[in-house]
Amino acid sequence: MAEAAGERHAVVIGGGLAGMLAAAALLGHVDAVTVVERDRYPQGHAFRKGVPQARHLHVFLSGGLRALEELLPGTGQAFTDAGAHILYLPSDLVTRTAVGWQHRFDERRHGCLSVTRPVIDGVVRDRVLRAAAGSATRLDVLEATEAVGLTGDAGRVTGVRVRTRPGGGRAGGAGPAERVVPAALVVDASGRGSKAPQWFTELGRRAPREESVDAGIAYATRMFRPTGPAGAPDVAVNILGWRGSPRGAVYVPVEDGTWLLTAAGVRGHHPPTDDQGFADFTATVGDPYIHGLLPYVEPVSPVYGFRDTANRRRHYERTGAVPEGFVVVGDANCTFNPIYAQGMSVAALGALALRRTLDSGEGLRPGLAQVAQRAVARATEAAWMTAVGADRPFASAATARPGPAERLTSWYVRRLTLRAVTDPVLGATVRDVFCLTAPPSRLMSPRTVLRTVLLPCRPGPDAPPTTVVPVRRAA
Ligand SMILES: Cc1cc2nc3c(=O)[nH]c(=O)nc-3n(C[C@H](O)[C@H](O)[C@H](O)COP(=O)(O)OP(=O)(O)OC[C@H]3O[C@@H](n4cnc5c(N)ncnc54)[C@H](O)[C@@H]3O)c2cc1C
Repeated sequence: MAEAAGERHAVVIGGGLAGMLAAAALLGHVDAVTVVERDRYPQGHAFRKGVPQARHLHVFLSGGLRALEELLPGTGQAFTDAGAHILYLPSDLVTRTAVGWQHRFDERRHGCLSVTRPVIDGVVRDRVLRAAAGSATRLDVLEATEAVGLTGDAGRVTGVRVRTRPGGGRAGGAGPAERVVPAALVVDASGRGSKAPQWFTELGRRAPREESVDAGIAYATRMFRPTGPAGAPDVAVNILGWRGSPRGAVYVPVEDGTWLLTAAGVRGHHPPTDDQGFADFTATVGDPYIHGLLPYVEPVSPVYGFRDTANRRRHYERTGAVPEGFVVVGDANCTFNPIYAQGMSVAALGALALRRTLDSGEGLRPGLAQVAQRAVARATEAAWMTAVGADRPFASAATARPGPAERLTSWYVRRLTLRAVTDPVLGATVRDVFCLTAPPSRLMSPRTVLRTVLLPCRPGPDAPPTTVVPVRRAA
């Protein structure tokens, strides 16, 4: 590939989900986009080293899917064609809460996507490459190429230092020598391990302020194939953890007739990753339903663990926090406790925010980085507030303790979510916010506050509900 001169050239670091979506956002706004990806992509929909969390349950929320569809029309259908399941909440996902099972209200406002992560990444990559083929922007993806630093100075980033990874085998047999890819705009989408803060220091500027709230959750996941109908319920199953029962499990259908079982627990309750320990753990969650399915399924993968699940945000949106020519998206900007299933949706919402910023001005103008970074931050804010608000009471001593206002909010949100189990009106509000289609302020609307404070807490059913409950639709 002849690397384009930097003037109307953008470089995206990381060709994962956020990186490919950022590339899509840039189409039509620059002459060329180069995506620099450390891994080589696998053939077909297979796991790869650069995205280790991909072994675990990855549900795409409706709010993120809407953003994705706006960026890349037709992606929802492509997911379904690749074997994804659309789970409407709460009718297609039976949830056990602290007060019993959630009613399966026939709401159908939130169709969320269930499929493995390699399918999500593969479909999105394919859609972006197709979109690029029909665009005036040239898109190049440099596989097996690692970004190792930035060029420029404290005030402006002018490119990326890259090297081919050992064994990456660039055509022509070039060795691992560093070279520079010049760019007018660099987008960091290198995920949770982003080195941008260190790279900032090398350029002579301060790293961004970082905030972290860690509920200490660990995941363990195994893929199964049902051996008969008893192992494949007609719904997905979610057993939440709650005070007094801090372990949970989720069992969801994915592609090709397989199911993912993810177990999770807070500190002191981490799920084991050996076969027997994992199976035994599922017997200790708040309801025996999922454990009871195990005789009817056979494992088709080992058990995989994951422990780094903190909510962590780098405040690149603060005034002066990014140099000209540098924007950060996806997990490189903000990671979330995965139990809220928000990260991919925020990557999609962030990419859409980047595109809208580019649409609203004359392309790569001075000051763009800061404006775009603020737009990405606004697209991140709702997810951050809900995740951090819910996790703060369980945070380690190392992260900030809640003040009185936060304790009151936690009390209120807990009361609201428990009433939402049996109240379709409160339930719809909670789902709108947690699926990222409404701002968290909706939880504080006068009608919601009144219902939350005045309604008694009724218990939900004591067994997984088998029937869908009709709800009266608003006129
Ligand atoms: C256990 C777990 C479960 C999760 N479940 C959900 C869920 O249910 N729903 C949901 O929405 N989100 C979920 N998430 C969050 C989701 O995984 C992330 O938000 C999402 O992967 C972010 O995409 P990304 O592209 O920013 O990062 P990644 O997907 O991590 O991609 C980063 C890419 O950058 C590449 N890269 C890294 N460094 C370099 C470098 N120096 N040079 C070149 N390339 C580089 C990597 O190889 C990789 O391809 C979960 C996360 C975890 C940990």
